[in-house]
Amino acid sequence: MQPHHILILGGTFEASQLAKSLHDQSRGQARRFTLSLAGRTQTPVQPVPFRSGGFGGVAGLLSYLAQENITRVVDATHPFAAQMSRHAVIACATAQIPLIQLSRPAWQRQEQDLWTEVDTIEQAVAALPQAPRRVFLTHGRLDLAAFTKAPQHFYLIRTIDRPDGLDTLTRSAVAHSLILARGPFGQAEEAALLQNERIELLITKNSGGSATYAKILAARAARIPVILLRRPPAQDCPQASDVTGVMRWLHGDRP
Ligand code: NAP
Repeated sequence: MQPHHILILGGTFEASQLAKSLHDQSRGQARRFTLSLAGRTQTPVQPVPFRSGGFGGVAGLLSYLAQENITRVVDATHPFAAQMSRHAVIACATAQIPLIQLSRPAWQRQEQDLWTEVDTIEQAVAALPQAPRRVFLTHGRLDLAAFTKAPQHFYLIRTIDRPDGLDTLTRSAVAHSLILARGPFGQAEEAALLQNERIELLITKNSGGSATYAKILAARAARIPVILLRRPPAQDCPQASDVTGVMRWLHGDRP
């Protein structure tokens, strides 16, 4: 029988964790894996070798699956990377390759949280108050151009690499400032940033997991309102909430 070749669609901490587990267990195993990244981050930090760049839509992914003799696919992309996840479902169904989606649990609202939950970035912009505020945007892929509709606010933007859309804000004379930094961040660090930058409102995605939760904790402690984007729905395929669940599935058990 042909040995398994597992494709991990990555870009998350969990994908790297899974790749590392598979790598550590690979000695003597008749299986190999490939970690795939979109290539958005200029200097990705990964514990294992990886391929980088889009496949070229569903058709490109189908060719890649065939060329590389992929036998299992783990979609461990970010919960908001909905296009890649959709492509994986379609391509795997067409090629009859088993697929699992690894998605960390979403954050749950606590009593002290001042959250407004929305589904789209346009709704997030519409939920901003009329009066000018100092707003913290913690994710560059929040489609920055949408914020030109609320130019009265100041936006502090934090991303790993310089985000697209920044020039649109500059051209539209929307006051903003950019911090380039890679998490995880601690709660004390986040609290200090909120205080030093006099942040009055946070806009972020419900990414789940612990790596970026500190800002939510800091906002809760400082009673700062949060506009939180809900996740797109999970794909119609087996689901795992952690690496252990994926490992079980790879061994033929239920996730
Ligand atoms: P997306 O909108 O779902 O994907 C756009 C396109 O990027 C896909 O159609 C695909 O191109 C390519 N792509 C995405 N993930 C890929 C992967 N792992 N390997 C190869 N190609 C990939 O995704 P996105 O929101 O731009 O996110 C891109 C990557 O950043 C993902 O890997 C994701 O895990 C990570 N990330 C995303 C977020 C977020 O908030 N969206 C946050 C943190 C990390 P083709 O159609 O050409 O195949």
